[in-house]
Order: sequence, then C-alpha cells, then structure tokens
Amino acid sequence: MPEAPAFEGVRSRSELRDFSVSDSERFWAAVGNQRLSWISPFHTVQDCDLTQGRIKWFEGGKLNVSVNCLDRHVHTSPDRVALIWERDEQGSEVKYTYRELLEMTCRLGNVLRRRGVKRGDCVTIYMPTCPLAVAAMLACARIGAAHNVVFAGFSADALAERIRDAESNTVITVNQGVRGGKFTELKKTVDEAVQSCPSVQQVLVAMRTDTPVVMTARDVAMEEVSEIIEVNKGLIKGLPEMLKEDVVCEPAVMNSEDVLFLLYTSGSTGKPKGIVHTQAGYLLYAALTHRYVFSYHDGDVFGCVADIGWITGHSYTVYGPLANGGTTVLFESTPIYPDPGRYWNTVERLKINQFYGAPTAIRLLLKYGDHWVTKYDRSTLKTLGSVGEPINTEAWEWYHRVVGDGRCPVVDTWWQTETGGICIAPRPSEPDAEIVPGMAMRPFFGIKPVLMDTEGKVLTSNNTSGALCMAQPWPGMARTIRNNHQRFIETYYQPYPGYFFTGDGAYRSAQGYYQITGRLDDVINVSGHRIGTAEIEDVVNQCSAVAESAVIGFSHDIKGEGVYAFVVLKKNIDIKEDDLSRQLNKMVSKKIAKYACPDVIQLANRLPKTRSGKIMRRVLRKVVERDLDGLGDLSTLDDPTAVQEIVEGHNCLY
Ligand code: ATP
Ligand code: MG
Repeated sequence: MPEAPAFEGVRSRSELRDFSVSDSERFWAAVGNQRLSWISPFHTVQDCDLTQGRIKWFEGGKLNVSVNCLDRHVHTSPDRVALIWERDEQGSEVKYTYRELLEMTCRLGNVLRRRGVKRGDCVTIYMPTCPLAVAAMLACARIGAAHNVVFAGFSADALAERIRDAESNTVITVNQGVRGGKFTELKKTVDEAVQSCPSVQQVLVAMRTDTPVVMTARDVAMEEVSEIIEVNKGLIKGLPEMLKEDVVCEPAVMNSEDVLFLLYTSGSTGKPKGIVHTQAGYLLYAALTHRYVFSYHDGDVFGCVADIGWITGHSYTVYGPLANGGTTVLFESTPIYPDPGRYWNTVERLKINQFYGAPTAIRLLLKYGDHWVTKYDRSTLKTLGSVGEPINTEAWEWYHRVVGDGRCPVVDTWWQTETGGICIAPRPSEPDAEIVPGMAMRPFFGIKPVLMDTEGKVLTSNNTSGALCMAQPWPGMARTIRNNHQRFIETYYQPYPGYFFTGDGAYRSAQGYYQITGRLDDVINVSGHRIGTAEIEDVVNQCSAVAESAVIGFSHDIKGEGVYAFVVLKKNIDIKEDDLSRQLNKMVSKKIAKYACPDVIQLANRLPKTRSGKIMRRVLRKVVERDLDGLGDLSTLDDPTAVQEIVEGHNCLY
C-alpha cells in the first residue's frame, strides 16, 4: 500500500492535515482513488449539507466492499494471513489466509443468494467474534445485503427489538457461544427473539460447540464444513449447503451510497439508534484511520480486542485491517480468562504489534498487579490504543509504563458509532510528536472540530471547554438512523445548525489539543461551576484504595447540583468510610477545587455497565433521584443485578 498521496507544497504530516481540511475535496478525491478499487469511478467527491443532515460521498462510483477487503489481496498475496482467531480456549488460535476467507465468504454469499436474500435486504448476525461471523459480514457485502450485527450477549428482547427495527428476513447465529469458559445459548435466544419478529423467514445456524440444538422448520441445519475452511480447523461448523456451493460468488456492483450496515449504538443515553453506514466512504475512512492512527505497516499483526458487535469491532477488527490487507486478531475471550494475563499471553503468542482495547479493561487489569503483564514478552508491541470512554490518568500511565514498557505510544482515540472511524487521536502526527497522557489531542485528516458555548457560538480561543461539534463532513460519518431520519436530524444536526453535534464535551488546551471531558449529559453544575464528571472520577480513581468510580450530579438545595460518587474499592482493601472520604476530599480539592468534592460517597461492589463496558450514569442518576420507574431502556445493561445492589446500597444511605 503506497504512502499517503503527495500534494504540491505539502511537506509534512501536519501540513498534510491542514491541507486535508482546507482542501478537503481534493484530499478525499485523491485518497479515495488511491485506496479503493473501483468498478467505475465516482464523479462527485461529496454532496453534503450539514444544515440538512445530507451526507453523500463519492457519488457515481461503483464498487464492492468485499472485493476491496478480499479479492484484491488474494490477487497479490493469497497466502497472507487475514484472520487469527484467538479462541476462548487459550493457546488454540487458528489462522485463515486471504484465500480461505474469500472462499468462505463466497460460499456463504452463494448460500444467502440461493436462499433468497436480495440486494438491499438486511441480515442480522448474532454471533460471537469468529471467522464465520466475519465471512457473514463480508458475504452480505458481496451480495449487496446490509448487515446488522447484534452483540451476542444481548437478551432475546434486545435482539428482537433490533431485528424488528432492521426488518431482517434472515438471521445467522451459532448453537452456543463460548466466552470466559462459559457457554451461552445463542440459538435459544434467537428462537425466543424471532417469535416476535414476523419478518424473519430463516435462521442459519452454525455450530461453535458439539452440543446439539433443537431445530425448527425456520432453521437451516448445520454440519461439518471443514472443507470450507480447507482443513479441519473450522471448529465452527457451518451450513451443509455451503459445501455444495461454488467458490466463486459474483460480487454485486454497489453504489457508493448503498447501505453497507446498520449498527445499534450501545444505548448509554437511551433507546438504541440504528446507525446507518454506506459503502465507499465508510470503508475508506476505516482503512485510512486504521493505517495512520496506529501506524499500521504491512506484515503487522493488529490486535483489536473489541467484540464485532460494536463499531470498534466493525471498523478496526474487520473493515479497516482487511481493506489494508492486514492481519487482524479476532478475540473471542475476556481479559481475565483463564487469568488476568490473557491479553498479554495473547500478545506474546500471536506477536501482536498494535493492541487496541478499552479503559474499562485496563482499569480492571491494573487491580491485579503488574506481574500478570510482565511475565509475558511484549516486545512486538509498537502502539497501544484506547477507546470507548475517557481513559483516566492512572489507567493511561499503567498502560504506558507497564504494558508498553514506556516505549510504545498510547493513542487515546475518540470517536463514535456515528463517526464511522476515529476522529481525534494523537496520531497521525510526525512520529516523534508529543503525546499528552489521557488526551485524544489531534483531529484526524479531514476532521475539523469546533467547541460551542452554551449559546451556540463557536469558541475560538484555546484553553476553553465546550460542546464538541464537527464543522466539516468526512466520508466515514453516519448517513441516517434506520427508519427515523427525523431523529437523525434532531439529534445531530439541529442542536447547532450547520454542524454535526457529537453529544460530548471537550476541552481545548493552550496548545490546541483536545481532551474529551465526557458526555454532555454528564456535565454537572456545582454552585455555578460546570464540571465534567469524568474529571472528578479521574481524581477519585487515583486514590490507592479505589478501583473504579462513577460520579453523577444530584439536585442540591444550596449548590444547585451536588457531587455524588459511587466508589468501588480494590480487592482486599479495608478502609473506614470516614478515612476514604477524607482522602478523596483532600485529593479532589488539591487537583480540581473544593466545590468538586463529593457530597455523598456510596460504596458499591460494582457499577452498572453496558455490555461494551461503559458505566451507565443515566441509570445511577435515576437511582439517586429515586425514580426507579424511570430507569429507561435497560436492554444494553450487562448485569441487571448491579442496579439492584446500587438501589439497595442507596436505600441504606438514607
Ligand atoms: P449511545 O449513543 O446509544 O448512548 P454510546 O455513545 O455509548 O451509546 P458508542 O458510539 O459506542 O455508543 O460510543 C461513543 C461514545 O463513547 C462517545 O460519544 C464518547 O462519549 C465515548 N468515547 C469513545 N471514545 C472515547 C475516548 N477516547 N475518550 C472519551 N470518550 C470516548
Ligand atoms: Mg453515543
């Protein structure tokens, strides 16, 4: 893959960045032509109007995403490893070459076509992170169907809601999932879900384990499929019919703006939204960010441990790495299975060069101590990435010092399901450019962030905080919300007309670097001081007794809002509540201000989180407001008993 295109007068990465914003059309036209394989070229680089929420890129262009991710690499290096499936069972990884993945994709594409799935249909994929799931996504892309991957930890109700909204006629699943040594009955969950989904005509079932499942008339049976994956390393046994299929599957000729997939956001802020991404712009943006944010080089092994059910799994486990002809790891397990050394054992064994994970996992692992990390060889690591939430200082430093031995850049990457790919991250910049801990820092090529004040005016100075918006469109941004374009416009384009509104707050430092301060709903106003709860949590988490915390505001007679801190202590810590409170007050007063000190501290065993590991502060707010009927949509909650515990703990306080 050649380096970034050269533009006249552009001599450095930072000049290229300036150019990509000031002459965005020329930049994206060149990059689009260079990095994607087109069946016919585009005639219009972009047709976007942020005042109306109209986003169109590369119109006139025709291409097939699966060809871009597979065929073109098979032509040059068929035996290059595309996927390394890091199965739940440690030490049993399986590799798949580009040729094998193409073959699997084509066979599955032919099965779908023969079973009536048409261009424009939507297929729901309810599978753990595994090669067949990737092949299923690419098979949809091959035949022009949209996919809707639903995280295989969601309940039947949550799955049903997403299938209905997506109007899927086909679901692909496995008999059982295996994660952290535990089995989950995925097929049973699908059975329950589809009862309330009249659109579903068929359910294709692969076998992840040997446990048989009850099959109904709607289900398409499974069997050995070892030939598909060449030798019997399949371990997921697929569709008997796939064997009959030809390994050639004619790729559909897609328009740039045809739908590639829908993905429902994690729902930390309310009812899940079916975010829609289209073909060319999304793929290009995923590929470009994958290469430049992580400094991915040909031959590197990229280890993104996110589940494919999240946007991170879509863009940085599947589409970005495969569009770049890279080798990508499919991580099926958990950070603590069979022990807290799992990630680093995997890094050593698979020789991972870029590791990309979430702050929630880093915070969890640092509790267990350094030896789980240092016992493994991590010398292959070159870049460490973080995504999903603000990464607190303690976690950032541990990640950098212990995991990366102080020699790997840590890139804190800010983005959203809606942005398609990373928008703010320390790289790309000149390789030796400064990285400030806990800051996403620099906008990516073509990204123009702005901060807004409460009146909707653009804040021009540095050393200031505001609502984070984007002033210019880029190819990876979402096109609409499934079945609800009005909600799309209201959510993202009406709050600040002419801008894309992210819903997050950010601080721009004196040097012009961005730091995400959290969701704007999580900003509280204490005695007239506006403060992001993440900032207080960051300090609370630095207390040696504290494993994790969540801070919310609550209505306070005098201050307007008071500070309520839920605190999870580290294992085996014995500390009196008074002492804890004294320590926290001292730290918060010193590092932020006296007004930010917690008014209430509630100890908890754990915090309610989404299945992607994010703290659900909206639920905590409702508990504290004693509005248990208003908890809202809890389908994305990881473990409902965590809420019950919090409610009980809260009642004890009063
Ligand atoms: P929903 O929109 O349904 O409430 P969600 O926002 O959790 O769900 P995602 O699109 O997966 O769904 O997450 C994007 C959000 O995650 C961002 O808007 C931001 O709040 C947070 N986030 C992601 N990366 C970072 C980061 N590096 N630093 C701080 N916050 C981050
Ligand atoms: Mg969001």
